[in-house]
Amino acid sequence: MAAMNERAVLEVMCPRCGPVRAEASAARCGLDAGGVALCEVTCPACAAQIFARTTTRVAEAIVSYGATKDPHAPLELLEPHEGPPLTWDDLLDLHNDLSKEDEA
Ligand SMILES: [Zn+2]
Repeated sequence: MAAMNERAVLEVMCPRCGPVRAEASAARCGLDAGGVALCEVTCPACAAQIFARTTTRVAEAIVSYGATKDPHAPLELLEPHEGPPLTWDDLLDLHNDLSKEDEA
């Protein structure tokens, strides 16, 4: 029951393309009990799988923007040195009404 006219964009680091922006609603987030989370998005440019480490708080926010909660996320990928963690600064709240694409 999320407000469908609210959109948020995540800035993530694609291993091939560098920093790219993907819609939060397209992400899948796995939350760990320890306060860490793993968000998986598909690179909009090259379709690579991108894993971003973040906190459960940020992940919950991303989920509130329409991301899928994935109880089977490969949380073992939360091992360090997979690129910089996703922070609030990377969650760009754009409220972009210009491109209202119907994806239903
Ligand atoms: Zn890419």
